[in-house]
Amino acid sequence: MEQAPIVFAQISDFLEYLGPDFATLIANTPFLANTDLNPSFPFCCSRHYADLIKNAKEPAALLREVLPTKEEYQDVPGFVDDPVGDLPAGKSECVIQKYDKRALIVTTATCGVRCRFCFRRNYPFQSVPNVDVHVGSWLDTHSDVWEVILSGGDPLTLSPAKFQSLVEAISDHPSVTTLRIHSRLPVMRPDLVQEHFEFLRDLPARFDCVLVSHVDHPDELDEESLNIFGLLRYSGWTLLNQSVLLKDVNDNAETLTKLSRKLFEQGVLPYYLHQLDHAKGVAHYEVSDTRALELMDEIRTKLPGYQVPKLVREIAGEKSKTPVL
Ligand SMILES: *Cc1c(COP(=O)(O)O)cnc(C)c1O
Ligand code: SF4
Repeated sequence: MEQAPIVFAQISDFLEYLGPDFATLIANTPFLANTDLNPSFPFCCSRHYADLIKNAKEPAALLREVLPTKEEYQDVPGFVDDPVGDLPAGKSECVIQKYDKRALIVTTATCGVRCRFCFRRNYPFQSVPNVDVHVGSWLDTHSDVWEVILSGGDPLTLSPAKFQSLVEAISDHPSVTTLRIHSRLPVMRPDLVQEHFEFLRDLPARFDCVLVSHVDHPDELDEESLNIFGLLRYSGWTLLNQSVLLKDVNDNAETLTKLSRKLFEQGVLPYYLHQLDHAKGVAHYEVSDTRALELMDEIRTKLPGYQVPKLVREIAGEKSKTPVL
């Protein structure tokens, strides 16, 4: 193969890049071809993540997060297109306000990856070309909002210029004291996070800054994520992580314990462990509440309290995430 791309869009190129060591694993996986996929949720995986897979202690777990399989076509009752009720909550094109005095911005439809379990896999959201202008004028009429969450898609896939002009539009509103970024790029496209470094480093002078990363497995953390988290942390950012509880990816106490400990070693506190949102095509990742609660009981005996994430699920229409008890 010629020089491997930074992002694989072709499943065949991705599998070829993984190389012969993965032949058995892949032969045992009912993976799909690009042409089998719904064009609205294609394949996408970074070379960085492919390298993480190659170096992983549990490569099958990471592979399962990104490689489409025939299981996506199982039609399971209760798994629907808009599981978290984003469409009714949308107050304008790119602002979702479900919770009191806090707003989430769909900054872009672009993500650094297509996680096959994504809750937005069937969500018809579009990138708004002038997200900075929209958000600025929305905040003009919502002066009670104190926390703005940049989500997506992945906000750090915006070009540095677009990202900066969005943050500046928010910064013009003194009511907003907390700026939060939800991103999977520290483990998916560290190269893109680097491009934002200088700007991110200075933001704690204006906002209380929170990064909520999305890491599901300890093998996703490496030297590069350590560098990113280190830089942000020493610039004054609060670093939290959310994971999704996923069958045959991280649904065992040992993996979850390792994940918490490794996150903490990299300066990140485990925040949420999400029960899967029931998007159509993701039922094969489901872990039952009973099993999830057993796992929580087990990891609580192995970790300090501050490294135990909260097990939650999102229920459409609720005023906060709902604890699973
Ligand atoms: C999850 C979510 C938030 C953040 O909720 P926290 O419990 O504060 O992490 C905010 N807005 C929307 C629309 C959300 O889905
Ligand atoms: S990073 Fe989040 S939004 Fe992007 S594909 Fe994965 S689950 Fe979906």
